[in-house]
Amino acid sequence: MNDKDTYRMHTKVIQIGDRKIGGGNPIAIQSMTNTKTEDVKATVEQILRLERAGCEIIRCTVPTLEAAAAIREIKKQIHIPLVADIHFDYRMALAAIENGADKIRINPGNIGNPERVKAVVDAAKERNIPIRVGVNSGSLEKPLVEKYGGVTAEGIVESALDKVHMIEDLGYDNLVISIKSSDVLMCVKAHELLAGRTVYPLHVGITESGTVNSGNIKSAIGLSLILSQGIGDTIRVSLTGDPVEEIKSAKLILRTLGLRKGGIEVVSCPTCGRTQINLIDLATKVEKMVEDYPLDIKVAVMGCVVNGPGEAKEADLGVAGGIGEGLLIKHGEIVKKLPEDQLLPALKEELDHWS
Ligand code: SF4
Repeated sequence: MNDKDTYRMHTKVIQIGDRKIGGGNPIAIQSMTNTKTEDVKATVEQILRLERAGCEIIRCTVPTLEAAAAIREIKKQIHIPLVADIHFDYRMALAAIENGADKIRINPGNIGNPERVKAVVDAAKERNIPIRVGVNSGSLEKPLVEKYGGVTAEGIVESALDKVHMIEDLGYDNLVISIKSSDVLMCVKAHELLAGRTVYPLHVGITESGTVNSGNIKSAIGLSLILSQGIGDTIRVSLTGDPVEEIKSAKLILRTLGLRKGGIEVVSCPTCGRTQINLIDLATKVEKMVEDYPLDIKVAVMGCVVNGPGEAKEADLGVAGGIGEGLLIKHGEIVKKLPEDQLLPALKEELDHWS
C-alpha cells in the first residue's frame, strides 16, 4: 500500500495536549503508569522515567477523587500529555477534566445512564479535550454476544461504533477509538473492519498480552499485522512489568516496521559452537549501553572471526569475537584487534565520538 493511501493518512487530526495524532502524524507511543495515581511523587517519578525512555502520551487511572486532584499536581511536573483512565464513575471523569486531564478514556457503556454520559461529554466539550472511546472484548454487551454467536470482531466493532454514535449524537466529534482483545487475531480482524468504517484515529494495542516475554511476542505480532496495513495512529504495548519495557518494545516495533527513525539498532548473532567470547553477556551490555545515544545507526555484535566480520559488514559499527580477543569493525572494515574486556569500552568510545 502506498503511504498516502494508508488509513492513518486520512484519519481526523486530534490534539492531545501539545501532541497531534491522526491525519498522518507520527504514530505516538503511549504507556500507562502502574503507581497509585494519588501518590504524586511516585507517579511523577515513573512518568519522568517513561519520558526519558521515549513515552509520548501517558495514561493514569483515576479511581478516586483524590486521584483526580493529583492530576493537577502531576501535570505541573511532567512534560507529556496526560490521559485520565475512567471506569464506571462519571464523577471521576468530571473531576479529571476539571483538574486538567488532556484527554479522558471512557467506555460509555459502563458510565451509566445517558445523562451521565452527557455530563462527561459536555465537560470535555467545554475544554475541547478529546475522549477516547474504549471497548474491550471482555466487556462486550450481551445482545451483541448473542447477535454474533459469541465474542467476535464484528461484535466489538459494532459496540465501539454504537458508543461513538452516542457521543456524536451529543454533538461531539473530538474522539479517538480503541478496541481491544487479548485474542490477537480477533483484535487484528476488528481493526481491519473498523478502519474502513470510521474517520477517527485508532489507539492500537493488544490487551492483557502477558508478561514481558509473551506480551512482547503477542504485541509484536498483533501490532505489526495492524500497523503494516496502514492502520493505527497511536500505540500501547501492554506488558505485565515495568512500563518502561513497554516503551522500548513500542519503539522497536515501529522501527522494525519502518514507521519510525532514530535510535541504535543492535544486531547480534544467535551464538553457536564457533562462538569465542561471552557473547550473550556482551550483547546484553551493548543493548543497554546504546539506549543513551541519540544516533540512528546499526551496531553488530558477532561471536566469531570466521563469520562475524562478514555478517557485521552491513552494520555501521561492530565487534566480532576471537579467542580471548575481538575485532572492532567500522563500516565493514576491521580497524582494531582488542582483548575481550576492551571490546565494550572501545565500542563506547566510538559511540561517544559519533554522537
Ligand atoms: S557469527 Fe560466528 S559465532 Fe555467531 S552464529 Fe555466526 S558462526 Fe556462530
